[in-house]
Amino acid sequence: MNARFIPSICSYCGTGCGVVYQAVGDRVLASLPNPASRVNRGRLCIKGWSIHEHLRAPGRLTTPLTLRDGVLSPASWEDALGMTVGALRRIVETHGPDSVAVLSSARITNEENYLAQKFARTILKTNNVDHCARLCHSASVSGLAATLGSGAMTNSMEDIEEARCIFIIGSNTTECHPLFASRIMRAKAKGAAILVADPRPTQLSVMADLHLLVNPGADIALLNAMAGVILREGLQDPAVAEKTEDYEIFRDFALSCDVESAAALVGVSSADIEAAARMYAAGPAAICYAMGITQYSSGTARVYACANLALLRGNIGIPGGGINPLRGQNNVQGACDMGALPDSYPGYRKVTDENARKDMERAWGCDLPDKPGLHLTKIPEAILEGKIRALYVIGENPLVSDPDTRHLTQAIKRLEFLAVQDIFLTSTGKLAHVVLPAAAAPEKDGTFTSTERRCSRLHKAVPPPGQAISDGEILCRLAKAMGGGWVWNGAEDVFNEMRTVVPSYAGMTYRRLGIQGLQWPCPDEGHPGTPILHVNGCARGKGRFIPPRQGQPAEPVDQQYPFILSTGRNFAHYHTATMSGVSPTLAREGGEVYVEMHPEDAASVGAGQGAVVRLSTRRGEICARVRLVAGISRGTVFVPFHYVDNPANALTLNNTDPVCGIPEFKYCAVKIEHDRTA
Ligand code: SF4
Repeated sequence: MNARFIPSICSYCGTGCGVVYQAVGDRVLASLPNPASRVNRGRLCIKGWSIHEHLRAPGRLTTPLTLRDGVLSPASWEDALGMTVGALRRIVETHGPDSVAVLSSARITNEENYLAQKFARTILKTNNVDHCARLCHSASVSGLAATLGSGAMTNSMEDIEEARCIFIIGSNTTECHPLFASRIMRAKAKGAAILVADPRPTQLSVMADLHLLVNPGADIALLNAMAGVILREGLQDPAVAEKTEDYEIFRDFALSCDVESAAALVGVSSADIEAAARMYAAGPAAICYAMGITQYSSGTARVYACANLALLRGNIGIPGGGINPLRGQNNVQGACDMGALPDSYPGYRKVTDENARKDMERAWGCDLPDKPGLHLTKIPEAILEGKIRALYVIGENPLVSDPDTRHLTQAIKRLEFLAVQDIFLTSTGKLAHVVLPAAAAPEKDGTFTSTERRCSRLHKAVPPPGQAISDGEILCRLAKAMGGGWVWNGAEDVFNEMRTVVPSYAGMTYRRLGIQGLQWPCPDEGHPGTPILHVNGCARGKGRFIPPRQGQPAEPVDQQYPFILSTGRNFAHYHTATMSGVSPTLAREGGEVYVEMHPEDAASVGAGQGAVVRLSTRRGEICARVRLVAGISRGTVFVPFHYVDNPANALTLNNTDPVCGIPEFKYCAVKIEHDRTA
């Protein structure tokens, strides 16, 4: 049989690298870099090279499952959908539409996210639809929308090579966005200064011109102090007052931020803060951040602090400048754009905006609910209070990704009905009443939108196994069975409907997307796409300064719990490891769960390299093997969250940001004991 070579997009991180699947028959034998893609230019990271490995891994779901006599057992599509329709109808009729919630996914396509939110709004009649952007970048959406008018990455990955300074704060870019990190390294080779602020050493901090080893959570104090230095030394944009709102308020605020006090809080010298401010102010400078900024109960305020610095220096709307929130999963940006959010329709128009609601009612031909839905992070409490009784989960595994697993498990067990559609039986799926088998990315058509707002096409390389079908087709079958009259005519049909209601995608067609994709906004079919936002002024008119104050962590350390726990990703695994955990290459490289500790901290609990320690918080405990890291901030420990058997989220805190609902994953108090029995 001849091999076929099918171009597509990597289904792992938000960088959006172009891949080519080598397929023979119904198998993908290899995933290769697409040399024609300008995103990755013929290169991939270990995850991109391994995409084919999980497709036929043991445990792949191939038939629907329904809970019978307490056991999930194979069932027909008819029975599984019948059970789902019956349960959803009964619960909606008895308790109202808002007793049901839908979790969509940053792993599925734009078309599928569009259908998921449309299903929630038009069939179930609730705005209770959300997805895991709530956990990673909801603070970017709220923070950048308030200051600039758009919550997306302002510049492009290619454009980073124009920067004279790249300020990386709260991002381990080489581990989490490896191909973007290689661009940063190329920018350094071309003369850009690299400035890193992070409580952990990273590959980029090692090659940085300046690494500020900051205390966890002290970013606002650092950024405000840097703004003060820029103002005192007259390094601000000369036109800042005309281009922005509330400049004078911010100027007075930043000038009142004393560098010495900030230095004490941040844990670096005042000379280093001054040097960092001068580096950032030396020319076009790009801020790149990730979850080290957003995952705090003050995440939105931290994004304000980043935006203030960029506005102050006139770094918005210019090549080599900007604010670049690096999205973790392949389609976080797209899932947000498609309206898989409880307060926004596709294209970010608010559900509380009557004109927007009327427009969407006309487009979809039905009445729509006007009350914003619940944030994903509020759903567990709503279940425990009896407000949410059914949950429909698509391509997510909240029992690994969401904070405070014990609390969440209690809530999930209280549900009257749980449906999960996924490619493997996840830990959340094991508690479901119905499980529906879905197609993986190489088994379907559609589009993803990467972190740089680039919408690109996936092409189906092989059929899904057994009776699995795409998430989009599942949603259409379900909506039809609930009387919605939906018909699945393929992903392009959904894309063409979507672009009639999302102006920033209006000019995109499948034919135009080609290999390179297009960056939104792309308002008409003659438009080339937009590599840099806010070029002719901020999307909201003028940039807005919002002075943020450095607050306290929700759970400070104390004598009983003396270490600060921070969680995050590593290079081999992806989110809840549903795919990477069954990929032999990635599972081997990802190894077992570990905790990074400073050697003196490890010694203080009697542990050394490779020792097994017990980490406990007020919410739960796990065991992990010690990895000594000499450069980590003293008193801080780091655990990656991917490991199902020892989930870091058994430890984390569910305190959330009041504006956007993101949890404080980056800071809670933990006790560590050497487990001498292990
Ligand atoms: Fe895939 Fe991201 Fe690696 Fe590119 S950098 S190959 S998109 S995981």
